[in-house]
Amino acid sequence: MDILSIREDFPILTQTINNKPLVYFDNGATTQKPKTVINTLKEYYEQYNSNVHRGVHSLSQKATDAEEAARHTIAKFIGATSDQEIIFTKGTTDSLNLIAHSLGMQVLHEGDEIILPEMEHHSNIVPWQLIAAQKGAKIKTWNINADGTLDIEALKALITAKTKILSITWVSNALGVINPIKEIIKIAKKHQIKVVVDAAQSIQHLPMNVNELGADFMVFSGHKIYGPTGIGVLWGNKEALDILPPYQGGGSMIKEVFMDHSTYQESPFRFEAGTPHIAGIIGLGAAIQYVQDIGLDKIKTHENELITYAESQLEKIEGIQIYASKIPKSGAISFNFDGIHPFDVGELLNMQGVAVRTGHHCCQPLMRHFEIPGTIRASFALYNTKEEVDILIQALTTALKMLR
Ligand code: PMP
Repeated sequence: MDILSIREDFPILTQTINNKPLVYFDNGATTQKPKTVINTLKEYYEQYNSNVHRGVHSLSQKATDAEEAARHTIAKFIGATSDQEIIFTKGTTDSLNLIAHSLGMQVLHEGDEIILPEMEHHSNIVPWQLIAAQKGAKIKTWNINADGTLDIEALKALITAKTKILSITWVSNALGVINPIKEIIKIAKKHQIKVVVDAAQSIQHLPMNVNELGADFMVFSGHKIYGPTGIGVLWGNKEALDILPPYQGGGSMIKEVFMDHSTYQESPFRFEAGTPHIAGIIGLGAAIQYVQDIGLDKIKTHENELITYAESQLEKIEGIQIYASKIPKSGAISFNFDGIHPFDVGELLNMQGVAVRTGHHCCQPLMRHFEIPGTIRASFALYNTKEEVDILIQALTTALKMLR
């Protein structure tokens, strides 16, 4: 991979912050956008802005074609069987709310159980709590090991005849830990449990094939894979989607509307009420095309080198605690320093041009497990370099001198 030419695709990276070259290590929160995505959005608004699936006029047809071409690109990228398995949402959070509501309405009854690992992002906890409260179901926590990994035997012990749903992240946003997702899904499927995979932190790092994955549903956000904000995906098998109750009502999702009842479209339109984020969809298509043109395998190799290098350099700093140290990770590495608040480190890094995330990373139960207020998280993308890791280490050393 020619990183220098890749960096030229991302105009934002050339700027300075506090008179220092920007080192952007907050990719877990959102990735930067390549020119191809920015230009795609600009072209849409300048040349063919129009509503989709409605007009017979040329602009509307062009916008509809572009939207459906993006759906096709995304379907192929994740190995979906048909384009109709791709539902556009606002993002991972929206996808999880949709599936928690619709799947919960369909399968949950009084006393049923939903299993959630302790490491989940709040958006993979709270929607399940909402539907559990409505249906009289309960959440069962799958606790993590001291090293941040999940214990498969503990899952087996948690499952009962009442367990209906397991919703789990492939990669932990707070720790970077890669869960053995296929093994976990196999166990759940033996018990006819519906499995939802949160791929918000894996879609940009690890190759995805939904058919090989074996889950029932998979969700991700566009903005974490170099696409626009406000657009995301829910994938599900077409037959399963067609019989799920709708989540939101409105235009586009109906077949016929009477004053006292309505009938609904099949997937994907069944779940796409109202005017979608057309520019976002087309922009996401461009982002995924960009990633495919480079190749996710190459991206994965590059990012693995970065994370291994970063861990080996971080380890040398006195008083550091690296979470999930020596455990295979993807995209992110989280750490703390004895007696120092992560926010203070984050601020001093920012003064040196280095952007990292500090805080609980929307994973309060996980932070509670470690009995910490938060961590410092450096998260990587395809345009990051070893030289930037060196700058991070140098900036940390400077920050620690000031704080100690
Ligand atoms: N799940 C995980 C694992 C995440 O990392 C994130 C974003 N930090 C989300 C869900 C929520 O994604 P979004 O804010 O794009 O809806």
